[in-house]
Amino acid sequence: MSLLIANIGELFTADPENGVMFDAAIVADGDRIVWIGLNADAPPADERLDAGGRAVIPGFVDSHAHLVFAGDRHAEFAARMSGEPYTGGGIRTTVAATRMAGDEALRANAARLTEEMLRQGTTTVEIKSGYGLTVEDEARSLRIAEEFTAETTYLGAHTVPAGADSDEYTALACGAMLEACAPHAKWADVFCERGAFDGDQARAVLTASANAGLALRVHANQLTAGPGVRLAVELGAASADHCTHLTDADVDALASGDTVATLLPGAEFSTRSPYPDARRLIEAGATVALATDCNPGSSFTSSMAFCIALAVREMHMTPTEALTAATAGGAHALRRTDIGRIAVGARADLAVLDAPSHVHLAYRPGTPLVKAVVQDGTTVHLTTAR
Ligand SMILES: [Zn+2]
Repeated sequence: MSLLIANIGELFTADPENGVMFDAAIVADGDRIVWIGLNADAPPADERLDAGGRAVIPGFVDSHAHLVFAGDRHAEFAARMSGEPYTGGGIRTTVAATRMAGDEALRANAARLTEEMLRQGTTTVEIKSGYGLTVEDEARSLRIAEEFTAETTYLGAHTVPAGADSDEYTALACGAMLEACAPHAKWADVFCERGAFDGDQARAVLTASANAGLALRVHANQLTAGPGVRLAVELGAASADHCTHLTDADVDALASGDTVATLLPGAEFSTRSPYPDARRLIEAGATVALATDCNPGSSFTSSMAFCIALAVREMHMTPTEALTAATAGGAHALRRTDIGRIAVGARADLAVLDAPSHVHLAYRPGTPLVKAVVQDGTTVHLTTAR
């Protein structure tokens, strides 16, 4: 089955060779893009989606999300907005609710959130465990996560559970827990932060995970300028996530290595914290990604467009840089070349915006602009309004 997306006013490809094209069309055959060019030259196809002069962008790649959980922490958010600081300790509230929940409840919550993301143009999402913190609860979190994505991440080292000794728990995360989780995970992650896991503990978890065949990513330098970023680069992690508090050495490490700096401005928004310095990273030559960090505590948004608006308004990224970071950047952070860009051979994952330009993603914050979503060459979402 082939699909022609015709009458594209502005085609933002996030691909260096194709750049931004005008009056364009795309043809997908099966799940791949097979042709890109001028609308006037477009070949016929089995099906036709008329973009009506609107902008088309690659499907968003949300490379950092925590979607397997139960419960809700709106009261904690309200308290924080009334002046209480964010410490990360609220994770334990979600852990208690998640352990109590049945598989069906966890599955239904993850399904609701991935559907919410898809309707907003996100065609690839990474999903972490990290709210089970027992061998069985971490493994079942990943079994549920893999029903929704191939990009599953073992985050047993999210926080030390209440009452546990941190070194003993680290040993569990490097041992029996990792063994139970590895068959269901592509990635391993650790929250390297004061109050969570220190540099030595994080190194132990990451090294054991790499030995178990998992690729690495790190929650690094969110609340303090700790060792997380340099550890991520040293161990060849695909991504260091948050990067809010960086030293010059951290920036140099990110600029010289192949570890993507994934920025999560929804977390700073929702915890009323200073945003990461995206310009410093970009100007140093680091690769930057944007992701939602969707989770019930510190960033309960599923909207990549909202994160783009924050990145432009609060972090001084240009609209083009922000959209590139939310698509090609996210793909780089997942070490994928088949997604996050519109090019012949790439997966046919894209969104039609109800707007003439991708700039509207930041220019019209909070507005639902996704008119249609194509995933694997199939139209999976189409609004009929207007
Ligand atoms: Zn996170």
